Amino acid sequence: MHVDGAPIAAQGSVLDACRNAKANVPTHCKDERLQAGGHCRGCIVEIDGRYVAACTTPARDGMHVLTETPRLLAYREHLGTLVEQEKEERAARSVTQASVVNRSTDESHPYLRIDLDKCTLCRLCVRACADLQGQFVFAVKGRGAESELTWGGGAFSETDCVSCGACASACPTGAISDIDRARLKGDRALGRTVRTTCSYCGVGCQLDAHVSATGDDVVQIDGAASSVNHGHLCVKGRYAHGFTRHKDRLRSPLLRKGGVLTEVGWDEALDYAAREIGRLRGSMAGLSSSRCTNEENYLVQKWMRAGLGTNHVDCCARVCHAPSAAGLRRAFGTGAATNSLADIERSDLLFVAGSNATESHPITGARVKQAVLRGAKLVVVDPRRTELASIADVHLMLRPGTNVPLLNSLAAVLVLEDLVDHEFIEARTEGFAAYAAFVRAFTPEATEAVTGVAAADVRLAARMLATARAPMQLHGLGMTEHVQGSESVMLLCNLALLCGAVGSLGVGVNPLRGQNNVQGAADMGCQPDLLPGYVPVTDTGARARFETAWGRPMPAEAGLTLPRMYEAIDTGVVRGMYLLGEDVVATDPDASVVARRLGALELLIVQELFLSETAKLAHLVLPGASFLEKDGTFTNGERRIQRVRKAIDPPGGARADWEILCDLMTRTGMPQSFASPAAIWDELRTVVPAFRGASYARLEGDGLQWPVPSEDHDGTPTLHVDQFVRGRAAFSEVAFRPSPALASARPLQLITGRVLAHYNSGSMTRRSANVALAPHDALEMHPKDALARGIRDGDRVVVLSDYGEAHVKAFLTDSVREGTLFLSFHFPESGTNRVTSDLVDGIADTPEYKLTAVDVRLVD
Ligand code: SF4
Repeated sequence: MHVDGAPIAAQGSVLDACRNAKANVPTHCKDERLQAGGHCRGCIVEIDGRYVAACTTPARDGMHVLTETPRLLAYREHLGTLVEQEKEERAARSVTQASVVNRSTDESHPYLRIDLDKCTLCRLCVRACADLQGQFVFAVKGRGAESELTWGGGAFSETDCVSCGACASACPTGAISDIDRARLKGDRALGRTVRTTCSYCGVGCQLDAHVSATGDDVVQIDGAASSVNHGHLCVKGRYAHGFTRHKDRLRSPLLRKGGVLTEVGWDEALDYAAREIGRLRGSMAGLSSSRCTNEENYLVQKWMRAGLGTNHVDCCARVCHAPSAAGLRRAFGTGAATNSLADIERSDLLFVAGSNATESHPITGARVKQAVLRGAKLVVVDPRRTELASIADVHLMLRPGTNVPLLNSLAAVLVLEDLVDHEFIEARTEGFAAYAAFVRAFTPEATEAVTGVAAADVRLAARMLATARAPMQLHGLGMTEHVQGSESVMLLCNLALLCGAVGSLGVGVNPLRGQNNVQGAADMGCQPDLLPGYVPVTDTGARARFETAWGRPMPAEAGLTLPRMYEAIDTGVVRGMYLLGEDVVATDPDASVVARRLGALELLIVQELFLSETAKLAHLVLPGASFLEKDGTFTNGERRIQRVRKAIDPPGGARADWEILCDLMTRTGMPQSFASPAAIWDELRTVVPAFRGASYARLEGDGLQWPVPSEDHDGTPTLHVDQFVRGRAAFSEVAFRPSPALASARPLQLITGRVLAHYNSGSMTRRSANVALAPHDALEMHPKDALARGIRDGDRVVVLSDYGEAHVKAFLTDSVREGTLFLSFHFPESGTNRVTSDLVDGIADTPEYKLTAVDVRLVD
């Protein structure tokens, strides 16, 4: 083809060809994240005498495209005049209407400002909202000159908007703008832009952080083009960065003197820490963090093991997805997601179990919604009618705590109706005959009374699984945070094996990892029984390899998991703890007991951003750095290692956590001379074969999914392609052992979890304008349960369990089952985790956050 007489390859659209030919074709409504719409007509070109929109016309060999004929130039000038006229008319109308309903501007939202006078009706916001988020907040009403953008009337903050900012990022005229962007134009000039990785959830979106010209603040964040998020972000990633310069940030070390935490210099703080840690060397325990980088997690476990001689080291995977790792490892041989998030688009049936993805993993949730809009089937297993459940083909709304009988009954249908993939089972699995005999008894009719799910729905879902071309599982903490959490994951693996749905594109068993780097923290060996790369500490040969690399011996027995560390405080086995970035008093269950035990320690050192509930108990608090203030890597839930890059300095005297750790390791007798996180990463690559080929240079761009065994290896998007890591995959026979919570005299069952606007204990998101979107924890309660207790919507109530009580407002909704309650845990003052129990998963020691027997009373 030719553009203005110049030969050019016919690839993509005519607009692409024009751009490749460097022709000047104006576009107004083009957004690379969206399908071209041809709405603005600005890109009209002439092809063989016809006028067409270049963005929607495929390039073809033989075409002769003209971009600047006199007629086209006149047309563009006329178009520009029309747009200006329309804007003026709209502004005039708005002035008239503003006296009645102030329609020209809306500033009701904490992050988004709307000025309809600037709107040219290009519809990019309408399409971004629908096509990126699947939310349909905007529409254009009226015809011709009377057309106008609308969100249904009233204040914009009252709409279904999920505050992802896709509309503002797409709007070319400033009609919809980020408050951040407005601030940037107003009082702050723009400096550098730094590509980094979001720190809020296991999706691992790529961000472009825009730094002020003065270099001291991140003033705006945009989504970056990456295979994970394609330029899209959620309300946390895009907006919740104000915490970095919040007045509450810790700016210098705090040492307890005379019972009071007192500001001290770094030398005094580190001298104290080294002296006390040295004194308690054999009785120390460490807890690392998914908010910290891989490099920092690697250092923590290396220090504990080789420096202080203890395997008592754990991370927050213990309280979320340790059962996923245990279950997947037993079934397949590797405890990580089998597939990539991009496979959501390749699957024709998404099986979402125990995950409120649109709130907890919003970009993944949005991808699932888009897949459903394009025709994929959706099965949801959840006791709540979540957003995904409300658009599902089948919602299996089970009673909390009955995952095992429900998953067994799905498998029973596949076996009894002979809907299994015999060829796959024969070639790649073991133990099928015994398993099939075992599971037959769990017919949907037999389990219906226990699960509360109609047998017909179970049969329908099972048949959909069996007949799908590519069924893909995504699961969350609703599966893992139960007394049979690890076994529930094994049952998910059973289903995938029965369907032959592992080891290829668009399928697999995929835990949606909770916090941003929880995968990485576990990969780095912050687990009491596993060294980096999931090598058992009890493996003498493998341990010797690490001992040689680190130049120190280390204990041969597995250490204590986090719940056992707390118990060991009572017995004096653990006398000191080092906590990095974890507010366990706010987030761990049975929190009153956790606080009492931490208070009994001889030494508690907390490395943190804020004076958290846990830090308030410490003998020493060390101010660390947020993800925007340091370098390193995070690993997301699909095993993708991505770079974290420093955008700004930590405030005051706060320091990067890896620097603090290196100093302390050196002062406690294990000198570390790393000049940068890259040097730490390079050491890790020498001891863990799966990371060997993942140099920082090769992580530029989209990162790499482990294993990456060599410098010429492109990473591994799909695991178990030809062979399972354990050889043949194993079926698991799991009988139902109900949680003691189901036998309690307390009549209601409490589930805890997250809401969209907040993250974990809320220490970061509550120090941003996100708090205006979700200002407090709320108890979701079925109207019938409320009526029986004289509770009305908005009443203050107390939630009572055998462990403690929480004080919150009631929110009446039929999106929870009768007898079931839901409560978020983002405001520690509510006391959510004073109510949750000390029951744990039998294999991974993960707390049963998703089921506590409670009652609720109106507060007088
Ligand atoms: Fe950050 Fe997760 Fe939101 Fe992505 S989906 S922007 S990783 S919080």
